[in-house]
Amino acid sequence: MDNDKIWAHSGDSHFLEPADLWHQILPKKQADRMPRTESIGDNEELVTVDGTSFRRPLPKIFTARGATGETIAEMSHRPPGSRDISLRLEDLDGEGIWAEVMYQSIGLWCSLIEDPQLIRDAARAENEWLASEVQAKAPDRLVPAALMPMLDVGDAVAELQHAAEVGLHLVSLPTGHPAGTRDYNDASWEPLWAAAEEAGMVVGFHIGTDGGDQASRFRGPGGAILNYVETTYGGQYAAMKLVASGALERHPRLRVLVSEGGASWVPFIGDRMNEAYRQHAMFVRPPLARLPKEYLYEQVYTSFQHDETAPAAMWAMGYQNVMWGSDYPHIEGTYGHSQKTLHELVDGVAPEVRQRITQGAFKELFPHVSDPPA
Ligand code: MN
Repeated sequence: MDNDKIWAHSGDSHFLEPADLWHQILPKKQADRMPRTESIGDNEELVTVDGTSFRRPLPKIFTARGATGETIAEMSHRPPGSRDISLRLEDLDGEGIWAEVMYQSIGLWCSLIEDPQLIRDAARAENEWLASEVQAKAPDRLVPAALMPMLDVGDAVAELQHAAEVGLHLVSLPTGHPAGTRDYNDASWEPLWAAAEEAGMVVGFHIGTDGGDQASRFRGPGGAILNYVETTYGGQYAAMKLVASGALERHPRLRVLVSEGGASWVPFIGDRMNEAYRQHAMFVRPPLARLPKEYLYEQVYTSFQHDETAPAAMWAMGYQNVMWGSDYPHIEGTYGHSQKTLHELVDGVAPEVRQRITQGAFKELFPHVSDPPA
């Protein structure tokens, strides 16, 4: 095994908002309605969003096991830099992570807000905070994702433009369109795709944001595995909708990032879409100038953390937009074993493939980031 440190950019990381963030940036009346969590007992937390609460399991110790049952990772606490940017950069240096996309944590629950005015004001305030208090601490390394008001397309367009003005580089959209809006293949979203292309904002879809009961759909034997895999599909649907509806064809400079959902689904879905396009050509509306897989391969980027087959999507199946992601500081991620994981993934592949997975694909989406130490 190659013992050199591998530096990688991460297409999938998160920050934990300060517990009092909403009260720092919004009037109390609005802040009180924003998502918050509190622990109840040892293994559960209560999530409250605008007066509605639900419980979710939160074990004290997370354990990851190898194929023969051996413990390969155990975490009983959040990494030190989960909330603090200076400590975070120390964590990242230790792990070999240079630049990273940062999605929200508590903010992901914002998709449950049903009041357009509340989410509009919250997104505006949060994005200013992200630009000045997070990104500004290391603008060549940290790429926080803008929170978007998605209950109204006009609001979404306005906030995307505002987020671009304050200097953010990507927006975070839920993989499932919010209740009361049309699906992402509908023409009503066209102004948003146009605005993202115009502003050069990457459209990020983090998996597990379909809304509803997605994370607990299956019960009984095997439920944990079934539910975990289930959270993946929303990102695939979002990408397919943008290709099949012609949105990516109409906006050739629009770039989409599907984070945390693996990469080898792209060649598979591309094949399926091409077959539909060819064999069912008489039903296909709108017609596309090129085969669906070409748009998928050129404009959709994906991040994966442990997936053993992801590098082969690049070297064996011709899909170039594969990037690694640490999912820091989440338990599904690689904190504590990033170097081991990176070596296992890319020690055996050609140097140009390794370069593109660890840095090149990310740098294409975010050319402003700096390069890691040589
Ligand atoms: Mn993630």
